[in-house]
Amino acid sequence: MPLDRDLVLAALGRVRYPGFTRDIVSSGVVRDLIVEGANVAFRIEIGAGNPAVLGTIEREARAAVEAIPGVGRIAIGTQARPAAPPSAAAPGALDAGLLPGVQHVIAVASGKGGVGKSTVAVNLAAGLARRGARTGLLDADIYGPSIPLMMGIDERPDLDATGRAIVPFDRFGVRFMSLGFLVDKDAAVIWRGPMVMKAIEQLLRDVLWGELDVLVVDMPPGTGDAQLTLSQKVRLSGAVIVTTPQDVALADAIKGVAMFRKVDVPVLGIVENMSYFACPHCGKRADVFGHGGGRREADRLNAPFLGEIPLDAAIREGGDRGKPIVADSPDSPLAKAFLDVAERVEAALAEGEAKQARDSAGLGGWFSRRR
Ligand code: ADP
Repeated sequence: MPLDRDLVLAALGRVRYPGFTRDIVSSGVVRDLIVEGANVAFRIEIGAGNPAVLGTIEREARAAVEAIPGVGRIAIGTQARPAAPPSAAAPGALDAGLLPGVQHVIAVASGKGGVGKSTVAVNLAAGLARRGARTGLLDADIYGPSIPLMMGIDERPDLDATGRAIVPFDRFGVRFMSLGFLVDKDAAVIWRGPMVMKAIEQLLRDVLWGELDVLVVDMPPGTGDAQLTLSQKVRLSGAVIVTTPQDVALADAIKGVAMFRKVDVPVLGIVENMSYFACPHCGKRADVFGHGGGRREADRLNAPFLGEIPLDAAIREGGDRGKPIVADSPDSPLAKAFLDVAERVEAALAEGEAKQARDSAGLGGWFSRRR
């Protein structure tokens, strides 16, 4: 059988990423594969700062390709992921030492509080994990750190053996950490901008996030320092804006879209939460706050519409019980609404990856390859 890319990719796809069940192809580690005649060349690229892992992967990848009958020369380049390209708005400010193993960081944001931003962030993260992405959730909403409750966590995080790094929780397949663990709840409301920025940076730097396909960040509401810090410190793959159908919430959502665009962060789309109420008795749908405003504004802003989530007591109860609906009853129509949003977010990330792969002649990342 003549050697071709598929054969080589299949062989490499049997090599596991050390310490994980995922293989090195689906986790985006193998890049720029070229097969010419009997010769094979590719690069192994992982997050910065883990030379031992790089060596192990190279050895095992080489052995896997060598085992293919008829293979000639094998050239493997290895590298830790280079610094992300700086965004136009914050030249030079990105910190390459932050989140070295994380492929995508996405912000979940809203113009104002109480629209269900945290609820969407939790269920989106659980949904992405359910769909197979290695997912993390960072609760950076200092003004309403409710996510530990929604994730069913009431203990404090542990430090690793060095005593310097924080071990994230693992719930519903999602690695999770909250700003709420670092600060006293009552003190949080009087925090000034620089303190917020420092705390967020600490969570990006000191938490053992490891290798992730996507880190979902629940942002504080509004368009303040936290948003700016995040967009300046790490390369955001995009922002998901959560709104309710009321005009006031929509007006705030528009401001959110404008802010992310100003700092050159793509808007992945708009989610309309508490979009309608499905009566548990008669099953009829009631548009409590008016409906369709999210889709309309998304169209007007030229941003994708990611879906609508109904107003339903089961969603709130899931949050209160520490069991997000997507994890608790994944086959329910309510969970499906969130899973649909997750799928559209994935599609948007895949599109971004495909574009980047075209620009750099690489293989793209996990989201684009699984499609
Ligand atoms: P935010 O993060 O925007 O402040 P939360 O996610 O904390 O909002 O939600 C505020 C309250 O509304 C919570 O009690 C939550 O359980 C509830 N909630 C959010 N979305 C829904 C929904 N679709 N249906 C029912 N209750 C919801």
